[in-house]
Amino acid sequence: MANLRKNILDKGFIQVIGYLGSDVIPVNAARVSFGGSITELRKRDLKLMDFLAKHKHHSPFRHQTVCLNVKAPEFVMRQWYKHVVGAETTSNSFVKDHAWNEISGRYVPVAEYYEPVIFRKQSKDNKQASEGQIEDQEEALKLWRDTDRLLKESYQKLLDMGVAKEQARCILPLNQYTEVYWTASFQAIANFIELRDKPDSQWEIRQYAIALYEIIEELYPHTTKSWFENS
Ligand SMILES: Cc1cc2nc3c(=O)[nH]c(=O)nc-3n(C[C@H](O)[C@H](O)[C@H](O)COP(=O)(O)OP(=O)(O)OC[C@H]3O[C@@H](n4cnc5c(N)ncnc54)[C@H](O)[C@@H]3O)c2cc1C
Repeated sequence: MANLRKNILDKGFIQVIGYLGSDVIPVNAARVSFGGSITELRKRDLKLMDFLAKHKHHSPFRHQTVCLNVKAPEFVMRQWYKHVVGAETTSNSFVKDHAWNEISGRYVPVAEYYEPVIFRKQSKDNKQASEGQIEDQEEALKLWRDTDRLLKESYQKLLDMGVAKEQARCILPLNQYTEVYWTASFQAIANFIELRDKPDSQWEIRQYAIALYEIIEELYPHTTKSWFENS
């Protein structure tokens, strides 16, 4: 595996822990019904993959699976957690396997926080979005850091007083970093990228989506090309 760790934002990252399958998987999965299988992609296999992606025959894209270790600010993870379909391993529930595990602030004191480089302006026509930059970057940074410092100090003081970590953490802001394992199929990852690498997505989660694209492109170059050109 080449460089399968991407550093993101000031302290975040996505690290590939492991992955299953290669570019031949969607084609072999699609053809299993009539008993054929290949080890190297031919021109007609690429055509079949394009056909599958284009006509939403998506199940063959669920066998390539990637296990990721992600470090991201909590406000990014709150958006990411909305993606509930990871890798399906059971079908006895309508809620598919979430495939998430996260570091616990009940065990581990929170230590790291995200700090933006640029303070973006509230968008005028999209209530959720940002555009451009505010003028007084310096004042915004000062306010951010003052608040950050106060909250961190208060959190530490509560811990020093013997307050339980599970309770003390409740005063912490959403820029605290968290770390998770996420295992997801190619399709689930592609769906995440399609929704989160878009101008209407928040800039920070978009950086993770861009990095994820680079990762699956490295792991499954033909599948990635076929999916994003056809689906
Ligand atoms: C720009 C943006 C703004 C957003 N704003 C908000 C917001 O304000 N509030 C909010 O709550 N959420 C918000 N979301 C989250 C959004 O509503 C989705 O929950 C999130 O993007 C996950 O997408 P998904 O359902 O496709 O992914 P997954 O949950 O991973 O699902 C993947 C796919 O599986 C299929 N699927 C999943 N569950 C079912 C099911 N029960 N039945 C049938 N098919 C299913 C669907 O095809 C789905 O696309 C926002 C998302 C974006 C990108």
